[in-house]
Amino acid sequence: MKVLKFGGTSVQDHQNIQKVINILAQEAKKDKLAVVVSAFGKTTNKLIQSAELAKHKDNSYLQLLETVENHHYETIKQLISKDADSVIAHINTLFNQLKTLYKGCYLLEELSPKANAIISSFGERLSSYIIAEAAKQILDVSFKDSQELIITDNNYLKAQVDFETTYSNCRAFFNQNNSQVVVLPGFIAKCYDGQTTTLGRGGSDYSAAIYAAAVNASELQIWTDVSGMFTANPAIVKQARPIRHISYQEAMEMSHFGAKVIYPPTIQPVREKEIPIYIKNTFQPEAHGTLITLHTENSSPVKGISYVENISLLTIEGSGMVGISGVSKRLFEALSDDEINVVLITQASSEHTICVGVLEEDASKAVESIAKKFAYEIERHKIDPVKVENDVSIIALVGDRMKNHQGLSGKMFSSLGKNNVNIRAIAQGASEKNISAVIKRLDAKKALNTLHEQFFGDNIKQLNLFITGVGNVGNRFLAQLQQQKEYLLDNLKIQIRVIGISNSTKMYFDEKGIDLKDWKKSLLENGEHASLESFLEQAKQLNLRNSVFIDNTANQSVSKMYQQYLENNIAVVTCNKIACASELQNYKKLKEVSKKYNASFLFETNVGAGLPIIDTLKNLVASGDRVHKIQAVLSGSLNYVFNNYNTNNTFHDVVAKAQEEGYTEPDPKIDLSGVDVARKILILARESGYELELSDIDNNSFLPEESLETTNNEDFYNSLTKLEAHFQDIYAKANTENCKLKYVAELVDGKAKVGLQHIPQAHPFYNLEGSDNIVLFFTDRYPIQPLQIKGAGAGAEVTASGIFADVIRIANN
Ligand code: ADP
Ligand code: ASP
Ligand code: MG
Repeated sequence: MKVLKFGGTSVQDHQNIQKVINILAQEAKKDKLAVVVSAFGKTTNKLIQSAELAKHKDNSYLQLLETVENHHYETIKQLISKDADSVIAHINTLFNQLKTLYKGCYLLEELSPKANAIISSFGERLSSYIIAEAAKQILDVSFKDSQELIITDNNYLKAQVDFETTYSNCRAFFNQNNSQVVVLPGFIAKCYDGQTTTLGRGGSDYSAAIYAAAVNASELQIWTDVSGMFTANPAIVKQARPIRHISYQEAMEMSHFGAKVIYPPTIQPVREKEIPIYIKNTFQPEAHGTLITLHTENSSPVKGISYVENISLLTIEGSGMVGISGVSKRLFEALSDDEINVVLITQASSEHTICVGVLEEDASKAVESIAKKFAYEIERHKIDPVKVENDVSIIALVGDRMKNHQGLSGKMFSSLGKNNVNIRAIAQGASEKNISAVIKRLDAKKALNTLHEQFFGDNIKQLNLFITGVGNVGNRFLAQLQQQKEYLLDNLKIQIRVIGISNSTKMYFDEKGIDLKDWKKSLLENGEHASLESFLEQAKQLNLRNSVFIDNTANQSVSKMYQQYLENNIAVVTCNKIACASELQNYKKLKEVSKKYNASFLFETNVGAGLPIIDTLKNLVASGDRVHKIQAVLSGSLNYVFNNYNTNNTFHDVVAKAQEEGYTEPDPKIDLSGVDVARKILILARESGYELELSDIDNNSFLPEESLETTNNEDFYNSLTKLEAHFQDIYAKANTENCKLKYVAELVDGKAKVGLQHIPQAHPFYNLEGSDNIVLFFTDRYPIQPLQIKGAGAGAEVTASGIFADVIRIANN
């Protein structure tokens, strides 16, 4: 015989029950079946909720009850054509009994556990009867009331089973029963004096296991709404997948730690008899599901990650605990006397503190029990009053084979640490089947996904981007991202999702990832009103692992937000130079915060757009090299201007063309005045280890005062036209010496300057084309022949690719 159990969703409505009957028809061809059913989906909740309302004299309980009643009659109507009247009559009687019970609660303003158990038992009493009658239409089915078989103590809402009597009742019944299929209600039982009891919420699984063990069934099948026990709760971890094969012990650990797919006590009775359990999906019967047996084939050490959401952490500490025996005994005695389930225990070897995790609903009772037990010590300050920390969760790695593998806990804690998940307590049993960590509840989703990626991710790392600025650079960046998405996933195992996009007026978010084909027209334009603070707030609230904020603007206010992003463990990638060229103190602060909160702060595109200048410099410094001198042409815009300016055009027109081609900052004076170059050499100097301010850089500008003093683009351009003779003069002087004009930045032994220079033909800068940049690093290792980096140093496309490179650096981190 096989035992099959169908959960609430599987029997939610007539369409689903039809699917159940189809499965029964298939299975009944092979073997005799005992079929245990739950109440129709959500019915138990509604029954209890109605009772609570009645107890509070809230008449709306009647409406809620009516929805339950109507749903049952509708289901009968849809499923049963033969003898429907007698079925309706029976159901009618049950509802009349139920209404009398509610009336009692209403009048007495009371809902005792005993009444609660009777009321909630109706869910299964109704469902099992209807399903049996519906299945009878095509199969050889009989109905049996579980209350005649399962006998318990009188702990009404979570009764303990008397296995001896129960097993003997079950054997007697099934031995004499001849029908191919017997349908029984799950969840409900009776105590010795005949009163109704229940086996605890979710207890229909347990009823099925009891029948399976009683009759030594060949297998127990738990049919539910997912295709097995997943590597993590699929509602929270999208990448979770069904575990094909898991041991009883592992399944027990998973279910005790939150994997609701199976009610924890279910496993014990079948484990004793080594009956295999299959977890199957009613809506996808062909899927393999999960097989649970004593041992599993050679499989990965970590089988799953489980999670208990609502935990309170209680800490008992004090000098009176050190070296005194019996403190833990008394502590656990106190908790057990008050029936408080301890979910997790840790004790430091100093014995100065013991930490226990209990369900949040038990916390205040637990504090009372402990305070009572240790009243004497607390009064004499030998033990401190119990400290309670609420809003924490437990996440746990589960696997029988973890003990044979080193470094798993290291991997677990380092990946959590990288994502700034603060671990409040750790527990690892000597058997190492479970490594648990207590974390803040707000971090749980991030933590679960981080661990899942680490242990089951096929090495795929997911990055979540929040992008501000979708002008030239941002636009190109999104296009490159869209184009490279598949390549990154296939070849580098990086999955990049854009979660938020913002321009100066609108912002748009999608936690599942924004469709990059569509972001501009239909999404961002219809997005919500943007502000820098609310963009940050959303990124914080979502609290996704590997979050990256990308600044594609040249805006000072945006740059002022970096610190807050970093402090929330959100990496920052920026092409905006303002932060790195701001006061030294601010630059250092950002670096410090980045380190402290484990959030990268990358700005490769601050110098030379996409050229790997800063990264190279960082590697030189990190590997122990010392920079003596940097010589560079760092302004793509100035290089473009002086490469194109001659006697056949005007300075004004060449600058205007450079701006048109996207080679200048939005305010071209920043480039032309040399300020932009000064900022760049400042950043290189700082990255080389020199502590300079922008004011320490000698800027020998070629722009006359009159141009420098303008306050808007129009006045600036007008001044260029007016001063054309000045620029022609500069050009002519260089030309007569057979030199080219280059705006050169230099750092020599910690002193930096920028200015226009005459570059002779032999010099490496002479042939610098278009908007190219060049940097020469003279270091301990490159004293004479400098390390050179040269290439396109301006433009949206290359800047975007530089941003992209920083994002990939973060992924590879
Ligand atoms: P039923 O009503 O069939 O008894 P439950 O709601 O009790 O179903 O259990 C199935 C649900 O358990 C799934 O829908 C899923 O949301 C949840 N769940 C939590 N953790 C896990 C996990 N690790 N694997 C599978 N399901 C899980
Ligand atoms: N109907 C009960 C509940 O909702 C038992 C079950 O479905 O397993 O808790
Ligand atoms: Mg269940």
